[in-house]
Amino acid sequence: MRIVFIGPPGAGKGTQCRRLSRELAIPHISSGEMLRACRTDSPLGELIAGYIDGGNLAPDDLMMQFIIDRLRQPDCENGYLFDGFPRTVNQAEMLTGFLAERDQRLDAVINLIIQEDALVQRLLARAESEGRADDTPETIQTRLKVFRNRTEPVLEFYRRRGIVVDVDAAGTPDEVFTAIRDALR
Ligand code: AMP
Repeated sequence: MRIVFIGPPGAGKGTQCRRLSRELAIPHISSGEMLRACRTDSPLGELIAGYIDGGNLAPDDLMMQFIIDRLRQPDCENGYLFDGFPRTVNQAEMLTGFLAERDQRLDAVINLIIQEDALVQRLLARAESEGRADDTPETIQTRLKVFRNRTEPVLEFYRRRGIVVDVDAAGTPDEVFTAIRDALR
């Protein structure tokens, strides 16, 4: 199974992907985690930290390099879950090209739907529990705007291919997980 999770920041992509990854025994590929792991004292690390802390997206080509390196690892042979990737139509097109060269395609795109006011509350709570540098009120607004402008068109891209499943993400993690499982069946 090759599955993409799409949803605004705070929709619960990370939580649901971690759980589904265990259940399906396929790797959880979080583009945000990959970038955060590179926040080192190097020029590239500083560049990446600048994008994350401002709530803006890293450039598509840079993101794609990370993803392709990861997909070439042997544990990705039987599928994977993308958490936070692709976030632009350009990334989605590059992914389609990469997969097509291997006669592969995505099986499903899970669209986690939730109202914005619920998101802001969740993100501010996460700021306290996880201390993520990009969970500040200003950055949250930027990230929501980036989601609307750059990532919602990715949903349309996949809707035209008929692989989007809409899931209500407003419930508890258990309820959302059950809904995802039902949707995948
Ligand atoms: P996330 O953990 O998915 O919320 O991602 C945290 C941050 O990492 C985002 O706000 C972006 O700055 C960056 N990021 C994550 N995924 C991508 C992506 N696919 N393309 C560009 N930037 C990304």
